[in-house]
Amino acid sequence: MGKTVLIVEDEKNIVDILRFNLEREGYRTLDAYDGDTGLQLALEHDPDLILLDLMLPKKNGFDVCRAIRTAGRATPIIMLTAREEESDKVLGLDLGADDYITKPFSMRELLARVKANIRRSDMTPVPAPAAGTKIGRGRIVIDTGLLIAYKDGIALDLTQREYELLRFLVSNPDRVFSRESLMEHVWNYESYVGDVRAVDVAIRRLREKVEDDPPSPRFIVTRRGQGYFFHA
Ligand code: CA
Repeated sequence: MGKTVLIVEDEKNIVDILRFNLEREGYRTLDAYDGDTGLQLALEHDPDLILLDLMLPKKNGFDVCRAIRTAGRATPIIMLTAREEESDKVLGLDLGADDYITKPFSMRELLARVKANIRRSDMTPVPAPAAGTKIGRGRIVIDTGLLIAYKDGIALDLTQREYELLRFLVSNPDRVFSRESLMEHVWNYESYVGDVRAVDVAIRRLREKVEDDPPSPRFIVTRRGQGYFFHA
């Protein structure tokens, strides 16, 4: 059965082109032109993925996203933002969105992200009840059976994506990964070219939880112009 994508966007021409392209790829679509209706459809129909515009009438994308998570729904959400809306403040907010894409976007890139996020959500493993293999050494240790990361023996409160990012970096210590390559390995995008802000957002959130002093990271380090690495 086709997967269902809910489009929440107040610009009708964008909704039309998204619907056309998604349906051509075999998805079913639902659409909403304001935040209230979007939230209502998200909760009633439990779609497989939500494309959520940020600036919406009645209820903005932030509030819709938060309300969906508060309702306990883990539906993958891709936030659509306009370039002029970008700011560190916006990106630093813990919205619970899985990904961000900037308008104007290429349809090919958007379809690749929709596919990757639905696939990832389908593959989400059920945590094993028993403790498993531990990776990492020193202060950061990850139990890959329990899917829990520890710092100094205390479990970190990570989102699934933050956990996956940390696990990937810790599994490959002292190796630098470009943001594109992290998009491929952690976000499951194939041959990734395009917007890599989702990586920066996730790295920033992760540092706030992992580092002693987030502005001066010691574990998750930036190699300027090249990418990020885990300093073992
Ligand atoms: Ca809008």
